[in-house]
Amino acid sequence: MSGRPKTIDWGADSRVCPSCPENGSQPLENFGYDRSRPNGRLSHCRACWNQKQIEKRHKAIARKPSILSMSVKDRVIWAMERGAQTREAIQEVAGIRDEDRMTDALADLYDQNRLDRAGLRVRVYRLAA
Ligand SMILES: [Zn+2]
Repeated sequence: MSGRPKTIDWGADSRVCPSCPENGSQPLENFGYDRSRPNGRLSHCRACWNQKQIEKRHKAIARKPSILSMSVKDRVIWAMERGAQTREAIQEVAGIRDEDRMTDALADLYDQNRLDRAGLRVRVYRLAA
């Protein structure tokens, strides 16, 4: 025996996460929502799902180790080119810890007409075409 449960009851209000079957059956509220799935829930429990998202992000950053040697402004552009549009997302993707430098970089880009004016108002940042 593998030690894993023999059946996974997808219809019940608890289920086993394939990444941590050692935790046994978990209540459905441990699984995040995903409307694109027929059962409306993510396949993995929140803890495993979050872990996967973090690993994905780290991998994305690891693919571009050079960003750490780039200026804050270049990192902001780099993050935005990869789809980061909010202050939080840009900071996270670009790995910028210093909010002041981040604000300076955005102000700089704005002065250079590199930021979309309409985007600024709703605090969603876009690079000007
Ligand atoms: Zn899990």
